[in-house]
Amino acid sequence: MTHASPIVAILAVGLGLAFVLGTLAHRLRLSPIAGYLLAGIAIGPFTPGFVADSGLTLQLADIGVILLMFVVGLHFSLKDLLSVRATVLPGAILQVIASTVIGAWVARLIGWQWYSGVVFGLSLAIASTIVTMRALQDRRLLESNRGRLAVGWLVVQDVLTVIVLVLLPALSSVLGGEAGAPAAGGLAAAFGLTLAKLAAFVAVMWIVGRRVIPEILHYVAHTGSRELFRLAVLAIALCVAFAASEMFGVSLALGAFFAGLILSESQLSQRAAEESLPLRDAFAVLFFLSIGMLFNPAVLVHQPGHLAMAVAAVLLGITAVGFLVMRLFGYKTATALFVAASLAQIGEFSFILIDLGIGMKLVPAAARDLVLGTSIISILMNPALLAAADAVRRKLEPPAERAKDALDQLVPTKRTGHSVIVGYGRVGRLVAEGLRQQGIAFVVIEESPGALERLKAEGAEAFPGNGADARLLAAANVAAARRLFVAIPQAFEGGQIVEQARRASPEIDIVARAHFDDEVQHLIQHGANTVIMGEREIARAMLERLNIAEE
Ligand code: AMP
Repeated sequence: MTHASPIVAILAVGLGLAFVLGTLAHRLRLSPIAGYLLAGIAIGPFTPGFVADSGLTLQLADIGVILLMFVVGLHFSLKDLLSVRATVLPGAILQVIASTVIGAWVARLIGWQWYSGVVFGLSLAIASTIVTMRALQDRRLLESNRGRLAVGWLVVQDVLTVIVLVLLPALSSVLGGEAGAPAAGGLAAAFGLTLAKLAAFVAVMWIVGRRVIPEILHYVAHTGSRELFRLAVLAIALCVAFAASEMFGVSLALGAFFAGLILSESQLSQRAAEESLPLRDAFAVLFFLSIGMLFNPAVLVHQPGHLAMAVAAVLLGITAVGFLVMRLFGYKTATALFVAASLAQIGEFSFILIDLGIGMKLVPAAARDLVLGTSIISILMNPALLAAADAVRRKLEPPAERAKDALDQLVPTKRTGHSVIVGYGRVGRLVAEGLRQQGIAFVVIEESPGALERLKAEGAEAFPGNGADARLLAAANVAAARRLFVAIPQAFEGGQIVEQARRASPEIDIVARAHFDDEVQHLIQHGANTVIMGEREIARAMLERLNIAEE
């Protein structure tokens, strides 16, 4: 009998179980992350039954981090990054120092040496990129001001981690660890070298990468092979990340982020590259699986007090410190609270740091379980913290300012007999123009910040958010509207909108947009009166142009 390789086993059993438990968590209205973590614990070495190879899982999770940061870079521009530097650079440094002090204090309470405390504190100070990104993505905040601040903050934390990882061995002799290391004089040299390598990486990417990478992609795009194009995108993301870590000592995440950043300057490659990376979510799940696998539940019984202190240091300590720092830089209470809370959890960097510390005998081995336990609990509690930050935001900000995401505080339209347009892109905009010309009143539901700004400038009545959200449909008064135009390209999401609108009003005339025959069926079944299939209309217009449509 042949056995499947360990990688296949991890992907099959790990992802399979993560899928089942993630779906279950979703049904119970919990974050699917809880399901992934539980699946990780189930296939880990501390629970009976199947045990997956945790080393391999961690390596696969690295791919998740690379792909994720690459895509984050794609959505980001250098301008965005520079626009927040005045806050995030000093802010993140101050926060990491203050959080380290809090962590070190917890370590002293546990009874460890002060130098153990420094390493332990550092590992509690650095947020997990994946978790913060998921929180921002789920709330569609990546491109908002808060999103930019959080991503910039993460980038600075990442650079700091790279510096700490390099300096730790050099520091170890000064701090009193047992590992052999250069004398204190070597410390300055190691620090200088790290910064020089980092600068060299940025310079190479900026001077060479910025020219070569888009050239390569454009060349491949012209070959017309989709397969080659996707391969090129994947290869660029992985190769840049790998080269960054092998040649320049930069972290994989930071390398991938820069690769994405460089491509973000060209819109074509940005869109295409994004479409080419459907794998990233599956790999991100592996990250949560790997944390679950490493976690030893015994820590809950053996060190509950210590664990509680460490969790409090992360959840409350980081939120408080981040909040104070941002307030110091003049940000509003609500923004400061949200950004700080989004950083109040720990993950991948913390494991690397604590493992290095344990390897150099700077920290007792018990610290690993504490850091892992803190990571799991902080990741699970983080959504609640963000919800609390949102609640405070709702209390503090006047309605006009928080219109972007306080859905339940929407001011409903007073219109009746009007038209509702969902989606204000290439299609919705033209529909709106037509209605305007005919003097028909309309309101728009749209989720992208760019389109919303445009609507605002045009003075149209708009509701920000996802049209599938019942609260938005109610605010747009679909029940008393005459027509609904579902002008979004995703017909299955459109089906949800159509269904809800039909339930709210049996009379409303619903026109929806589709791109495939199946989608036309789907939309009609859910209650649309008319479905316009884009591709069919394009073909018709092409034929009409030749005047042969009636032949
Ligand atoms: P286009 O394909 O150019 O017509 O653009 C579609 C527009 O619909 C974009 O501006 C999207 O932001 C918007 N959109 C897509 N899905 C939704 C949704 N579920 N709710 C509201 N707006 C949406």
